[in-house]
Amino acid sequence: MSLEKQLQELTEGKYKKSIKDCTDAQLYDCVLQLTKERISDRAEISGKKKVYYISMEFLIGKLLSNNLINLGIYEELSQILKKNGRDLAAIEEAEPEPSLGNGGLGRLAACFLDSIATLGLPGDGIGLNYHFGLFRQVFQDKLQKAEKNEWIEENSWLKKTDTKFEVCFGNRKVTSVLYDMDVIGYENGRNTLHLFDLESVDESLVKKGIDFDKKRIDKNLTLFLYPDDSDEAGNLLRIYQEYFMVSNGAQYIVRELKKKGRNLHHMDQYVAIQINDTHPTLVIPELIRILTWEEGFTIEDAVRVVSRTCAYTNHTILAEALETWPLAYIEQVVPQLVPIIKELSARVAKKYRDPRVQIIDADKRVHMAHIDIHYGYSVNGVAAIHTDILKETELHHFYEIYPEKFNNKTNGITFRRWLLSCNRELSALLTETIGEGYKKDAKELEKLLEWADDPKVLDAIEGIKMQKKKALAAYIREKEGIELDPDSIFDIQVKRLHEYKRQQMNALYIIHKYLEIKGGKKPVRPITFLFGAKAAPAYVIARDIIHLLLVLSDIVNHDPDVSPYMKVVMVENYNVSYAEKLIPACDISEQISLASKEASGTGNMKFMLNGAVTLGTSDGANVEIHQLVGDDNIYIFGKKSDVVIEHYAKADYVSKNYYKKSPVIRQAVDFIVGKQALKAGHKENLERLYKELLNKDWFMTLLDLEDYIKVKDRMLADYEDREKWKRMMLVNIAKAGFFSSDRTIEEYNRDIWKLK
Ligand SMILES: *Cc1c(COP(=O)(O)O)cnc(C)c1O
Repeated sequence: MSLEKQLQELTEGKYKKSIKDCTDAQLYDCVLQLTKERISDRAEISGKKKVYYISMEFLIGKLLSNNLINLGIYEELSQILKKNGRDLAAIEEAEPEPSLGNGGLGRLAACFLDSIATLGLPGDGIGLNYHFGLFRQVFQDKLQKAEKNEWIEENSWLKKTDTKFEVCFGNRKVTSVLYDMDVIGYENGRNTLHLFDLESVDESLVKKGIDFDKKRIDKNLTLFLYPDDSDEAGNLLRIYQEYFMVSNGAQYIVRELKKKGRNLHHMDQYVAIQINDTHPTLVIPELIRILTWEEGFTIEDAVRVVSRTCAYTNHTILAEALETWPLAYIEQVVPQLVPIIKELSARVAKKYRDPRVQIIDADKRVHMAHIDIHYGYSVNGVAAIHTDILKETELHHFYEIYPEKFNNKTNGITFRRWLLSCNRELSALLTETIGEGYKKDAKELEKLLEWADDPKVLDAIEGIKMQKKKALAAYIREKEGIELDPDSIFDIQVKRLHEYKRQQMNALYIIHKYLEIKGGKKPVRPITFLFGAKAAPAYVIARDIIHLLLVLSDIVNHDPDVSPYMKVVMVENYNVSYAEKLIPACDISEQISLASKEASGTGNMKFMLNGAVTLGTSDGANVEIHQLVGDDNIYIFGKKSDVVIEHYAKADYVSKNYYKKSPVIRQAVDFIVGKQALKAGHKENLERLYKELLNKDWFMTLLDLEDYIKVKDRMLADYEDREKWKRMMLVNIAKAGFFSSDRTIEEYNRDIWKLK
């Protein structure tokens, strides 16, 4: 049936209206239905061996546009709607964004599912169906408030299945119910994201904001995603959630194998389980439990086959983010796993005396990463520098035991979402210039280098950037009520709020610029500073930094001497949909983490792909971006990771010394508790942040501030050399091919999963 006919039948059938007469929401509902039907026509990807990507987070974003692109019907549908006086972009706005992830880690899982299907590899995701996901951020009185994010509608991408499992906890038994979402590859077949939910979940448990009774496990287990991505969790509910996910996942995998008549003793020939950070680690003892208790395996055999099936990805070297749980907590939540964990620990202790590699330590805490490393067959970091640091420092003692397990898989992003969907204009220009090939083989973007001196292509790239800046300005006018000048330089830092990412350093730069302008030193061209970031609700200093940014926004934007030259905007509720609007409009991509602390970053890749130039430290994938584009097409500043690591080792960094030495630093830091700031903001928050910077500054903001100011000012000056800048944009786009998640997944498959 033709697409138009199918859509007409749906609008007539559901709403007794023509396409013309439906509301956007009604049309969204019908297009959703149509897309789901088209997807279910696609063949399921199959093969002898399958990977299960198990993750507490899948930050999938809105799916309509991407699914239409991957089905190859985006253009056609867009034309049909246009013919009927409708706009596909407006219809896409009606889709609620599922917020099933915190940030980079969850977004990576979503990009990976897209690439696995696009490459035609059999691979499913396993996760949880959080009803309210991550909190929705609102600003009140210049402070972050958390609200629940309702995203599940009557008709959604979720498909309820008949699959149910029982999951036993220490004090009760619960029943799960499985929801599936189709994952359609780009011009390829279909895989599945399996999201487990609690049958007895009760949304009415949530009263105000995101408060609910933490003890009612039988009702609350799948209400919220734990909002800490790097901070100490320390919460029983989190262990309940983790075990609920892995027990369902393990039961599902074993059931699939048995349905297909596979010999479980050879499980590793049919299944690879990729453990996304330590959160799903309990899948290892849970599989061993199932095999020994229910399938008659000896412990020897169970440990052997599970260890050959599971592989672990490390996402952080922040010590405070590495999960360790008191054995007593695990005893309370899942007592049935305790004898197995003790057995696994005892085997390690028998072989290795080194206390640093033990699973259960002297304080009776269980080190989740240690289970993964001893009882998984692969350990990978997510960028070259990150893997090197793991081997040399953080996990050095493990690397000495298992050198063959360690490998690097530099992260990537799916170009379907971060280019084809979010920047159709640039994508069209690329197709016109270098052909269609880059859509399937991202390396082909390098062909663009042949046009590096072609004024027509360079002007077209610049023109598209302007168009995207105007579109963002219109969106921000509507959403935030702030007027932006598209002729100004758009300098953007969007990512989770964390001290190591150093939004506070950017804030100090803004103060510095503000004071300069007040003193009569005006920039050649106005600058727009854009931020977007959620802070974990329990992370006090991160919330104080948000407060400072909102205070600065108020002061700067309302100062008639300054606002013609600069604006500061902190957008509310930064999420994937907002990212898709911000990133194509960016001139300067802020990637300014303290060297050694950002494992990879993926935001940096999305910006580069959309023609932004990076201002960054030698950290995470910035290092690889630098290598690819060369010194002339990136702005690198700050101390290198070896220097930073040495400061930590010697504990010799004293932020106050930097403050005392430099009048520029002093002025900027003092502004935080100056009259103007205190008038616009709250004393408590600003003083706490001020003291933190002066007395602690654990992530060494003041160490790099002067160099940051110097290099950023040089970058702003270079922006005026339009020929140079346009060329830099082009080179960044051309060299971004390496960061396609298709490349990353090919490497996972080649080195770890070996699916075909
Ligand atoms: C890509 C992405 C991130 C990760 O950004 P980093 O800069 O790598 O930390 C976080 N949140 C959203 C919504 C994203 O799309």
